[in-house]
Amino acid sequence: MDPKKLVAKDRKYLWHPFTQMRDWQTDEVPVIERGDGCYLIDAKGKRYLDGVSSLWCNVHGHRVKELDTAVKEQLGKIAHSTFLGLTHPAGIELAERLVAIAPRGLTRVFYSDSGSEAVEIAIKMAYQYWQQRGKPRKKKFARLTNAYHGDTIGSVSVGGIDLFHQAYRPLLFETFAVPSPYVYRWPTGSDPERVKEESLRAMEDIFRKHHEEIAALVMEPLMQGAAGMIGQPGGYISRARQLTKKYNVLLIFDEVATGFGRTGKMFAAEHERVTPDLMAVAKGITGGYLPLAVTLTTEEIYDAFLGKHEEFRTFFHGHTYTANPLACAVAVANLKLFRTKKVLKRLQPKIRFLRERLRDFYRLKCVGDIRQVGTMIGIELVRDRETKEPFGSKEKIGVRVIEQARKKGAILRPLGSVIVLMPPLGMSAKELERLLDITYESIEEATPEGV
Ligand SMILES: *Cc1c(COP(=O)(O)O)cnc(C)c1O
Repeated sequence: MDPKKLVAKDRKYLWHPFTQMRDWQTDEVPVIERGDGCYLIDAKGKRYLDGVSSLWCNVHGHRVKELDTAVKEQLGKIAHSTFLGLTHPAGIELAERLVAIAPRGLTRVFYSDSGSEAVEIAIKMAYQYWQQRGKPRKKKFARLTNAYHGDTIGSVSVGGIDLFHQAYRPLLFETFAVPSPYVYRWPTGSDPERVKEESLRAMEDIFRKHHEEIAALVMEPLMQGAAGMIGQPGGYISRARQLTKKYNVLLIFDEVATGFGRTGKMFAAEHERVTPDLMAVAKGITGGYLPLAVTLTTEEIYDAFLGKHEEFRTFFHGHTYTANPLACAVAVANLKLFRTKKVLKRLQPKIRFLRERLRDFYRLKCVGDIRQVGTMIGIELVRDRETKEPFGSKEKIGVRVIEQARKKGAILRPLGSVIVLMPPLGMSAKELERLLDITYESIEEATPEGV
């Protein structure tokens, strides 16, 4: 169908996520029809580099032969049957493979369909765990400020992005907020060690006063993604692990964004050899092919749910499409590719290249801070570098940059005035260079004269 007609129908029938639909009526809307490696191709045939991995989930590129084949082979057997009371080979094989690569001690796999659900499940497991372990007062959760853990009511409750969350406050449960170690905008200065100590001190103060009512601390390890790519100082997550142990609080890692190689290791937790009590993963698990999520946990937590049928210690949670076999099959193929293509090994020089090339961006006066963990990158744009004065939201600086990038052939997506880059791990060095060139030029052209 003619792209213009498609867009007209889209505007007539659809409501898009995180989108001001009034702007949508007039904005240019690319209709993505196909993919080819790390490129997206629109209905007019224009090619764009997939600069944010189709919202942080694509891993090896699009139309990867091994992944396509895995879906087709599973389709030849069955597309879906339930995991409630039945099981299937793809779900079993994937669980075994996940346990083999997960931080040591995470030995149980619970499936769901999205990152929000995986976090929500971790919260419910932590809550019920304490109920069944004789500590019924432990009902509350601690989390970092700026956090994003998904869009369902439970995962929004442990989130802290006012823009997304304020409207729903009355629906949410209360949490204890630990100031996230946002080095660039820390009130007492930007020394990472000091920021780390002060943030951890605030965490310990909360635990000391309230540990008897806190079930778990929920956090993204190493890098808070949707918060604006806020990296944590080295040692932060291992110290958080020590504090949670000291105060008998469970630790939930949300590795929905950081998992599956984004930080340079399979999971962010590995950088500091931390094992959380519960870990949520999603996005990259299927290589960006199909929706699937997992909550991993320990035998200790799993055991608290065992009992006689009539004791009702069961975990009463499950979705219709839990462990969809097509999604599990492609996830297995994705994990195999990590090995056969030596993805993590080949990623290291790309990470170094990105780090070196990103330094040049400080030549642009409006670049206030550049944050990188592995292939997760945030470039924070400011009106005044000296005072760190942010751009106003009316200026739509992030939107202007990505519109410029789109013209030049790259799809990006900003978080406010932070330009995010999160290329697929499989993007070649040459493509990465092109992506950075486009980003640099787009920032230069979209920012006001003299800034
Ligand atoms: C994207 C994301 C989620 C939500 O995942 P969905 O699959 O979109 O529900 C949760 N946590 C983090 C850290 C994320 O980046």
